[in-house]
Amino acid sequence: RAKEMGKGAYAVFDTRMHRQAVERLQLETQLRRALELNEFQVYYQPIVSITTGEVIGFEALIRWLNPYKGFISPALFIPVAEEMGLIGKIGQWVLASACEQLQVWRQQFPRLKNLTVSVNLSSKQLREPDLLEQIDRVLTQTGLPSHCLKLEITESLLIDNYDQALKILRQIKARNIQLSLDDFGTGYSSLSYLHRFPINTLKIDRSFVKRLKPNSENTAIIKAILRLANALEMNTIAEGIETVFQLEKLKGLGCEYGQGHLFSKALDAQNITHLLSIIQRSLTEANSAH
Ligand code: C2E
Ligand code: MG
Ligand code: MG
Ligand code: MG
Repeated sequence: RAKEMGKGAYAVFDTRMHRQAVERLQLETQLRRALELNEFQVYYQPIVSITTGEVIGFEALIRWLNPYKGFISPALFIPVAEEMGLIGKIGQWVLASACEQLQVWRQQFPRLKNLTVSVNLSSKQLREPDLLEQIDRVLTQTGLPSHCLKLEITESLLIDNYDQALKILRQIKARNIQLSLDDFGTGYSSLSYLHRFPINTLKIDRSFVKRLKPNSENTAIIKAILRLANALEMNTIAEGIETVFQLEKLKGLGCEYGQGHLFSKALDAQNITHLLSIIQRSLTEANSAH
């Protein structure tokens, strides 16, 4: 009997393994074709000044509308794309789309010329020998000034290939492109050499912001990150602000910028265009009132 049960368990296990393998294979096949079939879209999440409420820029976030499975989260398919060696092409597409779009907005809304766009960079992309050429080409082709582009990298990238990362990041910096360290505080501590990297911004990970709630004083880590940023002359963006309480707390602690559902989730370009037209109009009205 025990033997039979064991056999049954194996059968179930096998079926599940089989199903997972098939699903993975389907995902890979569909991912491989997604770019040419135009299934990706770039969404934009506003980044806001916590002190003034001003929108200072956007984070570009990829979206995949899969024809069979509907919306698939980038948290799920980006790692697969990395493993498959597809992230270079996808990342290049996001970079070009985001730069082109920001340049369109800058021309459409001349009062908002200082907006920036932040593009996430996979550590695999940083290892591609032609990354800098790709970036240069996109900036030339779109006409976007380099200081309007920000690249978001993660801590693990700094640790995994220290020398190469340092070299490329310096070359990026030399072009006046800005650099943010994403999800800061969740990686292994690279504190000891953080000051050697030309980073402009530390992005405080959502998990720390989440812990800011009434009656629980979980501010120690955020305070430490803010102090560190201050000492290293970097600015800070808090990720995942969802409540007024979190916003007020962060303001009190001196965090400069934020993004999160309290302000806006990531929106498609059309909705951001609408938002920007409202902002531009209010600026024009404020000006003519004087
Ligand atoms: P990330 O770079 O840390 O992006 C922030 C994530 O937090 C986004 O998830 C955003 O939609 C979400 N978020 C923002 N505000 C809130 C909030 O108030 N509450 C909650 N619950 N979530 C919030 P998303 O768009 O699903 O992206 C997940 C991750 O996928 C990104 O994390 C990034 O690591 C990766 N990713 C997205 N787009 C790209 C891309 O174009 N290239 C690469 N390499 N990675 C990307
Ligand atoms: Mg990011
Ligand atoms: Mg992040
Ligand atoms: Mg995050």
